[in-house]
Amino acid sequence: MTSPTYHTLDHHVGNTPLIRLRYLSELTGCEILGKAEFMNPGGSVKDRAALGIITSAEKQGLLKPGDTIVEGSAGNTGIGLTVIGHARGYKSVVIIPETQAPEKIALLRTLGADVRTVPAKPYSDPENYNHIARRLAEEKGWFWANQFDNTANRLAHYHSTGPEIWRQTKGSVNAFVAAIGTGGTLAGTSMYLKEQSDKVAAICADPYGAAMWSWFTHGHTDIDDGDSFAEGIGQGRVTQNIEGLHVDRAYRVDDQTALSIVYQLLREEGLFLGLSSGINIGAAVRYAQEIGHSHTIVTILCDSGHKYQSKLFNSEWLQANQLDPDLSVDVVLG
Ligand code: PMP
Repeated sequence: MTSPTYHTLDHHVGNTPLIRLRYLSELTGCEILGKAEFMNPGGSVKDRAALGIITSAEKQGLLKPGDTIVEGSAGNTGIGLTVIGHARGYKSVVIIPETQAPEKIALLRTLGADVRTVPAKPYSDPENYNHIARRLAEEKGWFWANQFDNTANRLAHYHSTGPEIWRQTKGSVNAFVAAIGTGGTLAGTSMYLKEQSDKVAAICADPYGAAMWSWFTHGHTDIDDGDSFAEGIGQGRVTQNIEGLHVDRAYRVDDQTALSIVYQLLREEGLFLGLSSGINIGAAVRYAQEIGHSHTIVTILCDSGHKYQSKLFNSEWLQANQLDPDLSVDVVLG
């Protein structure tokens, strides 16, 4: 017998299960499948980007043990960079808008990141969290991960998420659905799947208040259609990770629809998810309703509901924000 091989944490990103969403599959007559990215070591889809960005920087000689990685993050990329960074010998500094869930900020601190909360500002403002991270890197000589425009992010999905889905569905996937934060997940995964079969559709799920639905539907980002509580998604510009991506269809999903989906999965299927997963699944169902039964539609279960206990799973917060956890999916998706 050959001796077994064991690997450190950074080798255990990806290879996540593909979970059948039973009720929504029955409702639509399609297979609606969710890639369980919340099962990654740092608890989200962003571990793949973090690993890809770190590995690419190492190959270019931009990182050596003991170095510091700085990033502007809504939380999950910072968590991924911190846990994978620790496994590889790096320190992390995370610039996070103070509007993000307190659970993510507390978790980042516990994990050992140097966390700096800043007021939420648009990208056009020099005080936007990404610009602060870039300037800090320049001043201190730190490595800036630059998840939005560093295409090592989408390449990580091209080399992992895409092949995993192709293998797990035995090539039967008809559509891949994802919301956009940086666009790395949607672009990298759908680019790989489309290379395997040009029949695979790339579908963008967008919350209100973002510009991606408008960009893929009308070709401009000049839109002001509301707001969303979904964290980690909601992009207003065409990042380098989105550049060149062909999207076949885009859907806007409102927060109530996403919330009803999150609660149905929690109460009836044992899945505890954040709101961006609900937005993704909402768009997967809309596409299924449009394309008809017998299609295999894959989407991303981005992170767990644990990170949003004080908001999405807190009745006072829900009431104050006019969201109803008891409104059924049949009503919102009807
Ligand atoms: N959902 C959550 C909860 C996230 O944190 C992110 C990343 N910011 C996404 C979805 C979107 O992923 P991507 O950056 O690959 O577009």
